[in-house]
Amino acid sequence: MLVVSKIGVTTMVLIIWMSFSSWGFFAHQQINRMAVFILPGELIRFYKSNIQFLTEHAVDADKRRYSDTAEAPKHFIDADRYGINPFDSIPQKWADAEMKFSADLLKENGIVPWQIERTYYSLVKAFKERDSLRILRLSADLGHYVSDAHVPLHTTENYNGQLSGQTGIHGFWESRLPELFSEEYDFITGPARYLSDPLKEAWKIVKSSHSLVDSTLMIQASLNKSMASDLKFSFSERDNQVDRNYSHEYASAYHTRLNGMVENQMRASILMTGSYWYSAWVDAGQPKLRNFPEKKITEEEKLLTERAEKLFNLGRIIGRKEK
Ligand SMILES: [Zn+2]
Repeated sequence: MLVVSKIGVTTMVLIIWMSFSSWGFFAHQQINRMAVFILPGELIRFYKSNIQFLTEHAVDADKRRYSDTAEAPKHFIDADRYGINPFDSIPQKWADAEMKFSADLLKENGIVPWQIERTYYSLVKAFKERDSLRILRLSADLGHYVSDAHVPLHTTENYNGQLSGQTGIHGFWESRLPELFSEEYDFITGPARYLSDPLKEAWKIVKSSHSLVDSTLMIQASLNKSMASDLKFSFSERDNQVDRNYSHEYASAYHTRLNGMVENQMRASILMTGSYWYSAWVDAGQPKLRNFPEKKITEEEKLLTERAEKLFNLGRIIGRKEK
């Protein structure tokens, strides 16, 4: 929780941090929040009464990137490092992929589909144990990883346009565009559906996101040719510092040319997040979600959270930066 006297500092940290975060702080929160409303009866009651938690913790996974060296690869997969037809080359199951490529190589190239699967089964377990705190934490994380997998630039080694002279496109696409335009988006997705094969679905998401990588980059490259470069950025002054950002005109031109891509990916993230939550509950045998046994945070958990928060506030990310 923010304390009033700390708001200035916190805002500053947030601004710095938002440039490094996936889907942006804002979009991740929106996705987790809206996924609650596509759940059926028993589930919606529980998730709705905890909607604040799910929203606030939608970005915990990104915060952990400041304190946990193992966290970064969980948010992406550089599919193109596996050749021209990566999805024929990478075995879907972790054990098979590990046998073919080694765990070290898989981790280096990012492991988001397997992370979705892992978090999913941890959530199933938490439902079976009727551990309300873990259900909420894992649901928030699962929503995060599922949403990251929907971002095309999370599926390529050219994740920030750094290999094609387009450095900065990562945050532009996933943070700036939703912040500017998502108010006009249509987020009606239909109800959550049961996913009988969570890993296969994760691969489907990644494959579909990867198919959008070329357009994401090429559309911006062609816009750069047709638009005068002095229109690309706007400058604003704050606290005696000049901030440079992509101008509204430039962002709007790119957004229009993307023809609904950001909106579609955000909507799909909502549908899949809700669907993963729902399926985990079904796979756990549809446990009753009322009168949970009381659960206290252990001393160890508390210390780990405090440490993560402290390192996050220092703002030194471990692993790749996407500015
Ligand atoms: Zn992320």
